[in-house]
Amino acid sequence: MVRTRLFLFWLVYCLTLPQQAHAAWQSFEESIMGTSIKVEAWHAEPARVRAASKAIFDEMRRLNAMLSPQLPDSELTQLNNTAYKEEVMVNTELANLISKALHFSELSNGAFDITFASVGNLYDYRKGIMPDQASINSKLPAVNYHRIKQDGLRVRFTHPDVKIDLGGIAKGYAVDRAIEILKFYEIEHALVSAGGDSRIIGSHDGRPWMIGIRDPDREMKSTAVLPLMDTAISTSGDYERFFKVDGVRHHHIITPSTGDSPREVRSVTVIGPKGITTDAMSTTVFVLGVEKGMALVNSMFGIEAVIIDKDGKLHYSNGLAQPKA
Ligand code: AMP
Ligand code: MG
Repeated sequence: MVRTRLFLFWLVYCLTLPQQAHAAWQSFEESIMGTSIKVEAWHAEPARVRAASKAIFDEMRRLNAMLSPQLPDSELTQLNNTAYKEEVMVNTELANLISKALHFSELSNGAFDITFASVGNLYDYRKGIMPDQASINSKLPAVNYHRIKQDGLRVRFTHPDVKIDLGGIAKGYAVDRAIEILKFYEIEHALVSAGGDSRIIGSHDGRPWMIGIRDPDREMKSTAVLPLMDTAISTSGDYERFFKVDGVRHHHIITPSTGDSPREVRSVTVIGPKGITTDAMSTTVFVLGVEKGMALVNSMFGIEAVIIDKDGKLHYSNGLAQPKA
């Protein structure tokens, strides 16, 4: 009896061996949407992970072709070139992204505002060129999300200088799309990241993923490490794209009311169920600063945040804060 059982156990073990020998974590990386896209995933059939990763990179290229403000033929560029002159019919996906962006503008009283680009476009981060105050002032009237009129798929701008840019929300959305693709391939354990925006499904060999929040001044050093499963996490940092003039840092996030970069915080990390939300919220909280930003996070169900302020001090939202002894 015992022998029969042992034999059966041995048989089952041998039958699963070929699968186990190949089943391993795989990772793929490509540079798309102006950032590094990484897929790390596990499945008993490794070919599935390869196929899903390829589908994800194709999806990222599709989104970039639609949403890039740099590409002259992107739907976003066409909208920017036309929507003041005449109403534009956009596709459902772009309409949804614009309406999501407007939702975060309402929620934050205009701290998140995709019309920031009307001024933001004057900065050249690669060449380290900043506009003079007169140029900023001349474009500031166009920075106002109320100047976007949306009725379903119809979009119109009510000021000639309005330009929009979805850089504060698009990567989070792209990561959500990637997770849908992984689920379609029945992959249950994975991490996808697009620059500072990541989303995790399942676990890492039965344990949570350990996600580090980097020190704003040292890329390889983590200031805090969070154990995470089944969540999205986005970090906005002033070190991502910046230049300095007379010791003052000008970075890629713009306060809509001033046209200048916010400097009260160095990085904002937001955790929540979806990348589109964590991405938009990390940018939003960066503009709002510690007090108003945390108040907004704490008022939202299922959203948490870690802020590193300008002095390097860490601030945790209520759901993450250590209970006081
Ligand atoms: P993130 O890296 O997610 O914080 O997003 C930064 C990107 O958001 C920038 O590169 C801009 O494309 C965009 N952005 C900058 N300022 C704002 C703002 N006030 N509201 C919405 N999007 C913004
Ligand atoms: Mg963001």
